[in-house]
Amino acid sequence: AAKAAGKATWARFEPRMRSEVVNHARLGSELHNAIIRHELYLAYQPVFDLVTGRMSGAEALVRWRHPVRGAVPPAEFIPVAERSGLIVPLGSWVLREACEQLARWQAEHGAAAIRSINVNVAARQLREAGFVDEVAAVLSDTGLIPANLVLEVTESSVLDGRQVRDTLQALHELGVRLALDDFGTGQSSLSLLRAFPVDVLKLDKSFVDGICDGEDRGRLAVAAAVAQLAEYLDLYAVAEGIETAAQLERLREMGYRLGQGYFMAKPLAPAELAELMVRTGRPVTAA
Ligand code: C2E
Ligand code: MG
Ligand code: MG
Ligand code: MG
Repeated sequence: AAKAAGKATWARFEPRMRSEVVNHARLGSELHNAIIRHELYLAYQPVFDLVTGRMSGAEALVRWRHPVRGAVPPAEFIPVAERSGLIVPLGSWVLREACEQLARWQAEHGAAAIRSINVNVAARQLREAGFVDEVAAVLSDTGLIPANLVLEVTESSVLDGRQVRDTLQALHELGVRLALDDFGTGQSSLSLLRAFPVDVLKLDKSFVDGICDGEDRGRLAVAAAVAQLAEYLDLYAVAEGIETAAQLERLREMGYRLGQGYFMAKPLAPAELAELMVRTGRPVTAA
């Protein structure tokens, strides 16, 4: 409506918008309580080696079970948490919980356990002065080696300036691995790869969706180019959001070594993942 009204006029602050603002404020304060009341938990989506079919890792994905609203998707509350700054304590909790879970799997399943855990990190967390020390402390408390941890960051958060670049460099020196999430959707993908110590490229689901739907040669081209890029730069290429056998097959042909998606497994509870982990056997790759 604001656009149709033209540049010269201000958008009217409609009652419906007002209630959205109120909802955001309320969601924010409820989220604060959610952390205290343990309404948050993690689901883990397996990452598979597409060549061997074995599970090599898992991505921790936060979930909120609201007492009244029910399940609130992260796409709704993560942006709210980022704006309010709550993403910092929330993200700290996710990092520690995910690392503790991997340590538990390793203790229970030994060599059969997955080797790595992926944790999403918001721009705001990277800007916190103590972030590198926090990661180091979590690793030492849980007994994980740094290479077990993959931090997923987006291109836009990486482009946040000097301090973030120093943080990523320090994390790299610590031995933690860095993945560029939603790769291909950002602004300056290629220069980023030279300036930052990136280990993994995660092709965004939107490009995977374009594979095998016949029409979309553009998205297919991006998917293929990202795999090539990863190969030349000696990075791991991960495809996310694989939903069909045909997509899986094409991605494997393109050179994707790793993949995630509902076709293989949805985000799971820890016990469900452990069961699948044991069934798919010992992982053979480091990633
Ligand atoms: P993401 O990091 O790109 O995670 C992948 C999302 O795609 C997840 O959604 C996952 O459930 C979904 N997905 C995976 N495979 C498929 C598939 O085959 N089909 C479809 N339709 N979806 C698939 P989810 O869990 O709703 O998370 C959405 C986003 O919220 C994440 O995108 C991430 O950006 C953010 N997020 C989730 N947990 C955290 C967290 O702990 N911290 C931060 N900062 N962000 C998080
Ligand atoms: Mg992610
Ligand atoms: Mg992603
Ligand atoms: Mg995504």
